[in-house]
Amino acid sequence: MTQLQTPPSNLHQAATTPPPAMDNALSTATLVMDGVAFIVIFLLIYFVISRGRIAAREKQARSESLNLQAIIDAVPIPLFYKDVEGRYLGCNQAFEEILGKKRGEIIGRTVYDVAPGDLAAVYHKADLDLIASQGTQKYETKVLFGDGQRHDIIFHKAVFSDPSGNVGGLVGSMLDISELKRTEDDLLRSEDRYRAFIAMSSEGIWRGEVSPPIDVTSPIDLQVDSFFENLCIAECNDALASIYGYSAAGEVIGRRTREFYDNEQVREILERFVDSGYSLHDYEIRQFDRYGRELWLSSTLVGVVEDGKVERLWGTRRDITEKKRQMEALEHSANHDSLTGLHNRFYLKNRLEDELERMEEPGHLALFILDLDRFKEVNDTLGHYAGDLLLKELAKRLEQVLVGLGGDIARLGGDEFAIIYNRVRSVRDINWLAELVLRTMNSPFDVEGIRVEIEASIGIAMAPAHGRTSSDLLRCADIAMYRAKKVMQRYCLYDPAHDPYTPERLALMADLGTAVRNNGLSIFFQPKIDLVHDSLAGFEALVRWYHPVNGLLLPGEFIPYAEIGELIVPITYQVIEKAVCQLHLWQQQGICTTIACNLSTRLLMDDDLPYHIEAFLSRYGVNPAVLELEITETALIAEPERARDILGRIHAMGVRLSIDDFGTGYSSLALLKRLPLNALKIDILFVSQMLRSETDEIIVSSTINLAHNLGLKVVAEGVESREILERLRQLGCDQAQGYFIGIPMCHENACRWIEDQRWREFGDQEAS
Ligand code: C2E
Ligand code: MG
Ligand code: MG
Repeated sequence: MTQLQTPPSNLHQAATTPPPAMDNALSTATLVMDGVAFIVIFLLIYFVISRGRIAAREKQARSESLNLQAIIDAVPIPLFYKDVEGRYLGCNQAFEEILGKKRGEIIGRTVYDVAPGDLAAVYHKADLDLIASQGTQKYETKVLFGDGQRHDIIFHKAVFSDPSGNVGGLVGSMLDISELKRTEDDLLRSEDRYRAFIAMSSEGIWRGEVSPPIDVTSPIDLQVDSFFENLCIAECNDALASIYGYSAAGEVIGRRTREFYDNEQVREILERFVDSGYSLHDYEIRQFDRYGRELWLSSTLVGVVEDGKVERLWGTRRDITEKKRQMEALEHSANHDSLTGLHNRFYLKNRLEDELERMEEPGHLALFILDLDRFKEVNDTLGHYAGDLLLKELAKRLEQVLVGLGGDIARLGGDEFAIIYNRVRSVRDINWLAELVLRTMNSPFDVEGIRVEIEASIGIAMAPAHGRTSSDLLRCADIAMYRAKKVMQRYCLYDPAHDPYTPERLALMADLGTAVRNNGLSIFFQPKIDLVHDSLAGFEALVRWYHPVNGLLLPGEFIPYAEIGELIVPITYQVIEKAVCQLHLWQQQGICTTIACNLSTRLLMDDDLPYHIEAFLSRYGVNPAVLELEITETALIAEPERARDILGRIHAMGVRLSIDDFGTGYSSLALLKRLPLNALKIDILFVSQMLRSETDEIIVSSTINLAHNLGLKVVAEGVESREILERLRQLGCDQAQGYFIGIPMCHENACRWIEDQRWREFGDQEAS
């Protein structure tokens, strides 16, 4: 049974209102079908009119009528026509099929016979109204067909006249749009899904339009200009609006994207966009919100190319401003020193590497390492807070000097700073900059009301002469800085001659290690004579190394490098043991004399030193009083308290102690007074020049007086002539040592020297 259902509530509206949200293609299809329906209806009207004429012209028209029935039967759209009372006058086969009835069962019946009563009444009334209005009608409804399926049908109905010109009835067609409706619903559903997806997305999604469309073959500059000027937001979600500080999408739609751009950056991005074939993914762009606040967005932009033109674009935007700021903060702390705000070592290394990579002309890059002198004293005396204040103030001063010069400054840690300067044309530039930097320390620093004077030493390395990598340059500048400190120059340019770490030196140190392990070092003995008693005062043990390839090496050629590493410790113990052993041998031969050994700074930090010495003395049964240790002044300055403690323990054993190379360091009298010393050795520097330089003679004579006042003996080093020897004797010097008296000699020669009593040659000539 076929039922007509869901009649339109407002037929007029149904006739005039197009189906909602129907896609263009769908609308076109419906229009075409509408057209077909109307054509069919007019055919039908023609057919009905013809039937009227049949009645009038009887037989003549009979065959024509049959032909027309055949024609409307051939139309696949269900067609029917009714009289003015709503009774079916005729129909085609398609109509019979959908009702599931034969034409004979239909003709002469009303809609009441084919639809439920209440619906039939509505349809019947609509038919009568149409007849009364003598117009046409179109509406859409659902009809249950004979196949048991509910079909979407558009009814087209029109009134026709009988041959006498009166209203003859109505003719109608049923257009089945179920298939179209399904497609339309599917489309609507997918569009709804997609809209919901876009609306709910936390990412800003937008569609852009460029008007006029951009020709993809036009020059890139023109395209960039066009996108820049004419790109509008045609559609977007609320998330995009909120990124820009708006509350709803509507406030953003229609705006030109350039309102939000950082103009410089966007051109470069648009260029990449065009270049990449209108598709850029996950790029970062800097924009501004409606209040002018900076935004960082992670974006994607895809252009739709149609007919060689881009008119529409799709984009997404994610606000990464916060993340970017956090990254920037992280980056800042990774690259900066928290105390001074200057760059740090990590940054410096990277910057150096960048500079080295793009360095075109050699010799134009210099690295300065600046290390404060005696900064530890500031920390120890005024406290670490004061030390920090000083470093901050210094950082400020250095920045002021370097600003505008193109130099970059970093704090490497502690009291160490580094400067990169890439505009060096000659060594003069380096000197000039070093002086400029050191001048920042000319005026005292005000640290919590206390005026603190501070000095620094600078080491300088150049690229590529001294290194082609950041670590090589840092190493060279470091070595130059230590050199500056050692030779008491304010700044030093790296010199490979003073570098213990050149490949040759490293090989030498490896050989030295082997020599030390194989007990392969020798000692030479240089005699000292007593000027008061004209006797042998003792010997100084001086280390010698017979290198398998290089021959005899003097201490100056390997001791400074051994002092940088750990090798100096076993060397020293080996020399002391050899000296003690020699004392033992001489003791056995009835020779009673002393041997002095040189102690490096490093050993004065070694708590085991007293134990080792005690062990050597007891192993060889040697009286501690015949062993002497020479300490340089610098060793005492570095860590006076610790040195004092260790020396006190050695002195307590009865071992004699003397200060070597006196006059070249900075040890204070107060310090000397507190140390358990026996003698001072005046440095060769003053002794060798004393007859030619009045100042040197004054230094020698006052050192003698000073030492005597402190209860110390005085030894003059570097005596190269009888004149010097005599002058020293006149000045009251206790002992003398030097080439004039005896050069450093091997054990056999030293024994012979003793046997021959060679010291007698240097007795007081005036007295004899
Ligand atoms: P030093 O302790 O001041 O030793 C004196 C240096 O002056 C020796 O040089 C000696 O040969 C040299 N000399 C002595 N008389 C004269 C002279 O009349 N004229 C001149 N021009 N020079 C003279 P050497 O043996 O080359 O030692 C140099 C330095 O090496 C020593 O200076 C000492 O500081 C260090 N040294 C030597 N042996 C050892 C050692 O076993 N251990 C440590 N740690 N250092 C040592
Ligand atoms: Mg010495
Ligand atoms: Mg000396």
